[in-house]
Amino acid sequence: MNLALWLERAGKSHPHQPAAGYGTQVVLDYGQLAGRVARLAGALRGDLGLVPGDRVAIVAKNSVAYLEVLYAIWHAGLAAVPANAKLHGAELGYILEHSGARVCIASEGLDAEIAPHAPKSLERFIVIGGKDYARLCAADPIAVAPRAGDDLAWLFYTSGTTGRPKGAMLTHRVLSVASHAYAAEVDPIMLGDAILHAAPMSHGSGLYIMAHVAKLGVNVIPESGGFEPNEIFQLFGRWQRVSMFAAPTMIKRLVDSAAECDPKNIRTIIWGGAPMYLEDALRALDRFGPRLAQIYGQGESPMTIATLAKEDIADRAHPRWRERLASAGRPFACVDVIVANAQDEALPAGETGEILCRGDVVMPGYWNNPDATASSLRGGWLHTGDVGAFDPDGYLTLKDRSKDLIISGGSNIYPREVEEVLLKHDAVREVSVIGRPDREWGEIVVAYVVGAARPAELDALCLSEIARFKRPKDYVFIDALPKNNYGKILKTELRAMDAKRGQQHG
Ligand code: AMP
Repeated sequence: MNLALWLERAGKSHPHQPAAGYGTQVVLDYGQLAGRVARLAGALRGDLGLVPGDRVAIVAKNSVAYLEVLYAIWHAGLAAVPANAKLHGAELGYILEHSGARVCIASEGLDAEIAPHAPKSLERFIVIGGKDYARLCAADPIAVAPRAGDDLAWLFYTSGTTGRPKGAMLTHRVLSVASHAYAAEVDPIMLGDAILHAAPMSHGSGLYIMAHVAKLGVNVIPESGGFEPNEIFQLFGRWQRVSMFAAPTMIKRLVDSAAECDPKNIRTIIWGGAPMYLEDALRALDRFGPRLAQIYGQGESPMTIATLAKEDIADRAHPRWRERLASAGRPFACVDVIVANAQDEALPAGETGEILCRGDVVMPGYWNNPDATASSLRGGWLHTGDVGAFDPDGYLTLKDRSKDLIISGGSNIYPREVEEVLLKHDAVREVSVIGRPDREWGEIVVAYVVGAARPAELDALCLSEIARFKRPKDYVFIDALPKNNYGKILKTELRAMDAKRGQQHG
């Protein structure tokens, strides 16, 4: 089953139903979107000579074109490699090379960033909105290519602990199951309902597209191309039964915004991707009413490990309401979820261990990375790297992240990647990067440095090699890092030191 069939059918059955919105306007109906997709798919197979299974990268900001490119790739039987347009050129170059993408379709203005890092395997670079793109969109349409459930649909690049991103292979089945789980358990969708893409479509928000196409909803892209609270509130007022996925930091900004908001058109605001402070969840509930839901998932089991339902979030009368509000909810119906000890044996309620998950929504592995696949999927379970515990009612609470992942503003940052860059500076002898809790961003990146480098030089080094959002927001210079007997840096101790330092400095 090819995911593109959902769009093709919508184009036939409901050609005049709105499919894509930009700001307050409907820009494409299902007939138009399906038609454009069939033609662009024809060009990918014909003009560009791509064959089923080939990868096509999309490096684009949120836009209506994102929808047609993604669906054209699937329609043509190809696999999409969406990459965050905010990444550094060198990071994008790695993803292009590792995925073996033959074609890259990118937003205007990104060519200069990517060109110096483009691998030899990349045959064509197409700019959305450019002359080439317009020509491709006018090609002869083709029929949807047959695809099996196990065929690759989306290579979802996450950051690895070693600093190199890994490509979680999301098949047509994985995305189909995730979409059904969402519509069944998180947010039922009716004809004409809207989904607002304020988070990157290359990552969290993009996974919400398919369920809305299946149920003939409208995918709406804010004119700001992302997240501006004033515009979001305006769009909540414009569209019918509108939902939005938002990282907890985005929800906090909405709650803090002084702008007027009438929540009556809001169907659901879904938070996920990072922990939410209980205080922030309570304030969001006060502002938006019973319209909030939570999702816990990861790229390897997209959107779908556990969910805290709207009813649970709003059930103030329940004796354990606050505990539940601080949890990630109950496992989705389509997955097995256990909390396990080091031998992968299920632990009873109340005990803390690693969260393991299995089911049709779990990726079959990482692209071209058998070692990481074997370690992540050993024994048939996805090892999430998250630590948590079930309560006796079956609600799962995330206690900590077992790895040292930093989540800042909803984006994942692996310390090692930043450390490796900082260590390139001659005057940096040792460095350890940690996350410091921050009420606005969730966490901010802090570098503990042994050496005599100046913060401005370290900033410049980071800007030349990694994405801007990964750069440390604070540098602390110390004489020695805390280490164990084997010489390994103790990050837990460093975090405790950092917290104490924060208290001393007020
Ligand atoms: P990603 O693969 O980029 O989606 O990141 C997945 C990671 O984000 C998970 O392994 C968790 O550590 C974290 N995460 C996702 N959803 C939640 C949530 N609802 N609450 C707390 N942490 C979350």
